[in-house]
Amino acid sequence: MIEYDFVNMPIVDIVNRIILYASKHNASDIHFDPREDCMMIRMRMDGRLRDHARVPKMYEKNLATRVKLISKMNITETRVPQDGAIKGVVDGKELDMRVSALPTNEGEKIVVRLLDYSSSLEGMASLGFSSSNLKKVQRMLDIPNGIILVTGATGSGKSTTTYSMLQELNTEDRNIITVEDPVEMNIEGINQVHVNSEIGLTFAAALRSILRQDPNVILIGEIRDSETAQIAVRAAITGHLVLSTIHTNNSLSTIERLLDMDVERYLLSTALNGIISQKLARTLCPHCKKLRPTTNYEKQIFSKVLGKDIKEVYEPVGCSKCNNGFKGRIAIQEVLFITDRLRELISDENLDKEDLKKAVYDSDTTTLLQDALEKVIEGHTTFKEIYRVVDIDFDLEKQIRKNIQKEEKEKARLENLEIIDAYDGILSNLRAMISDMKKIQKNAKDFAENQYRKKKIDNNGVEIIDAFEDLELANFIKEYRKKLKNQDNSDKKKT
Ligand SMILES: [Zn+2]
Repeated sequence: MIEYDFVNMPIVDIVNRIILYASKHNASDIHFDPREDCMMIRMRMDGRLRDHARVPKMYEKNLATRVKLISKMNITETRVPQDGAIKGVVDGKELDMRVSALPTNEGEKIVVRLLDYSSSLEGMASLGFSSSNLKKVQRMLDIPNGIILVTGATGSGKSTTTYSMLQELNTEDRNIITVEDPVEMNIEGINQVHVNSEIGLTFAAALRSILRQDPNVILIGEIRDSETAQIAVRAAITGHLVLSTIHTNNSLSTIERLLDMDVERYLLSTALNGIISQKLARTLCPHCKKLRPTTNYEKQIFSKVLGKDIKEVYEPVGCSKCNNGFKGRIAIQEVLFITDRLRELISDENLDKEDLKKAVYDSDTTTLLQDALEKVIEGHTTFKEIYRVVDIDFDLEKQIRKNIQKEEKEKARLENLEIIDAYDGILSNLRAMISDMKKIQKNAKDFAENQYRKKKIDNNGVEIIDAFEDLELANFIKEYRKKLKNQDNSDKKKT
């Protein structure tokens, strides 16, 4: 937040400083928000609103009046919405601002939009198209008649892309007329018509007159209703190149949307040259971004969508040169070049939506998601950022979640196997121990038995000795008896 010195500085200087700050920091909008206790000034940078300064309640009215004054609004009127504009040179940079005032319950809310088309003047090559997408756009621009549509939500950079294409076509041999609401950027050499429905100058009315002005190229600011859509298609098939924008999400929904606007199939299939769908993602600050390993989910997305094995992606850090790790924005694009096969399908009354989808994405069309992921790999933006801006197909999401579940199950199974292996190890160790113990026991038993047997042998030995002694004694007796007998006999002989 910036502190402005409301006490000592004139309000004129403060308003100038606020605008200068916004321009220097490439803010797209300045919000003057009346609140109960103060007025909050907020600025949108890289698509995100952030608080800029707090204005004390007593200065709120002066500040709002000053902004309305330089926007050429009626400063005495605060009860009805008003539109205004500021044009001027700030710091050598030509600034073009659209201002809107809206009465709210807390007071008048004023929003200043800073129009900066400097990037449209840098040419097609600076818009972030991949080389294959850029080639397709060039091919579309080379066809002298037909419709080229740029689609996307508000603030997706549609105007910048359309103006860049117009610049490319702006040569002296072409008569280019635009019908816009409002005219967003003045281009030298081009006739620009500002729609004013209050006096009956609608898109449709202006277009009818433009067609009588012998144009080569017509830019229709936006196709909002079926009348404009039908005139645009008719202009395209009668030899004009028509550029326009439409508020849809992707190529496929653009075709469906035009058919819903009662544009006849055969006319649309003939007229349509191509569709450029676009979104904006914040660009990583090159000074502080750092690599981190991809998560399992991200890996799966890269592998499914691009067939690539991505191990690392960049993430934001934040430094003095950026806003939370981001600086500027990059366009994510899907470019559909209408081939003969697609023309055939679009004109088919019985066409199934799924068939069209298949044909659109089976051709060499890079989807928004594919283009976005390539830009993540190249380090322009983050996975989280593209996840925020690009819709991920529900089926793909489901499939990937399922894959991850399967992988996790498999991982758990392998872990269980490891545990079982570990148990097996312990078990076999235990078995080995038991068998060792058995061996020891047996050895002990054997030893004991040996000891016993030895003792027994010893005992036997004693017995034998005893027996032997007995035997000796018996022999002695025998010998003695023999001696006695012999003595008897000799005594007998003597007698
Ligand atoms: Zn940084």
